[in-house]
Amino acid sequence: MNTQHSQEAFIQAQELIPGGVNSPVRAFKSVGGTPLFIARGEGGYLVDIDDNKYVDYVQSWGPLIFGHRDESIENAVIDAVKHGLSFGAPTLAESELAQLIISIYDSIEKIRFVSSGTEAVMSAIRLARGFTGRDDIVKFTGCYHGHSDALLVQAGSGAATFGTPSSPGVPADFTKHTLLAEYNNIESVRQCFTDSQGVACVIIEPIAGNMGLVPADKEFLAQLRTLCDEHGALLIFDEVMSGFRACLHGAESITGTTPDLVTLGKVIGGGMPVGAFGGRRDIMAMLSPEGGVYQAGTLSGNPVAMAAGLASVSKLRNNPKLFGVLETRAKRLMQGFADAAKAHNIGLQTDVRGTMFGFFFSDDEVHNFANALKSDTARFAKFHAAMLDAGFYFACSQFETGFISTATTDTMIEETIAAAQKIFAAKD
Ligand SMILES: *Cc1c(COP(=O)(O)O)cnc(C)c1O
Repeated sequence: MNTQHSQEAFIQAQELIPGGVNSPVRAFKSVGGTPLFIARGEGGYLVDIDDNKYVDYVQSWGPLIFGHRDESIENAVIDAVKHGLSFGAPTLAESELAQLIISIYDSIEKIRFVSSGTEAVMSAIRLARGFTGRDDIVKFTGCYHGHSDALLVQAGSGAATFGTPSSPGVPADFTKHTLLAEYNNIESVRQCFTDSQGVACVIIEPIAGNMGLVPADKEFLAQLRTLCDEHGALLIFDEVMSGFRACLHGAESITGTTPDLVTLGKVIGGGMPVGAFGGRRDIMAMLSPEGGVYQAGTLSGNPVAMAAGLASVSKLRNNPKLFGVLETRAKRLMQGFADAAKAHNIGLQTDVRGTMFGFFFSDDEVHNFANALKSDTARFAKFHAAMLDAGFYFACSQFETGFISTATTDTMIEETIAAAQKIFAAKD
């Protein structure tokens, strides 16, 4: 595959933008090689500036559940644009999207929109602290909750990939209230509660997608709920990735555990920058201007972004069977990979939740970040490069989740499996 133009563009971009990218994981650092510059998307495909076409399993890192250039989302955006890009005043679309999400998520009684997942989580944490009057928070190693200071501790993919568990520029003082527990290990959470003077909240990706795909055990989430209740701490589900990706009604509907607050992003913006946090009415009432916990945003609830989100989420709500159909496809893909790996004696762990899929090059099951880190990242890098060369665009790190969209056809899946079979057969 000729990627001359991308290579040249990357050299130029590196002169202008640190590392040539506006978000680190795009840089292909952990797999070597250079990132592709994208000219356009077409349904299930990405097309780079050298005119190569790839089946896209990244989908803008989650948002594009209807693939690229979905007609109804595109039309909704164009229509909104014609009415003005931003007003800094309330619009009907904000209430419509709020109403829609509240009707879908049992745990969400009120919601506020922001412009990114990072902002959503940062604000939800502030709200939890304001509501409980406590400072400490508990997070899990390998879970990513955006790049705000207090949460940039042992934060999965980016950190794992670059080997910097936390970042220079974050004062130790700012993370001293962040307690770390191990995913799927309730004893480690109990220890945090014992060590703390007062835990404001436990925040978790109930279906972790930022250390590769690692779902939490149902039992573990139920125990978390009980622990939080015993200690008067709030439970926050960070569903910025899994929300409207794993299923329609949220992780709470498939795990049976109800959080106090939920953070959303990615799919609810349909490709535009949107984040949100919502939950119990009495907690949300603490938020300014109703309450005293301050939070704001010039472009929050932006009408163009709301239009994209509305089109996207309403289409999901109106097609309740969609998740089942896509899950079958994702399972077929992972089964195909698993069978091919087995045939060539390659250790591979696979998992699927709705439209999310993950695979680790490892002989052992993966239930937490330490397990994930045992994966053969060198093998992943080779696999990634070979798949790219064959026209299949996977996330450029072993510790990311893959995505199926409505534009990912059965034919594409079979072609992907066939390509993987060839690569596994040619292993060293
Ligand atoms: C992507 C992600 C975030 C951050 O969202 P941004 O829009 O990138 O700021 C937070 N939490 C989870 C679980 C995510 O996957």
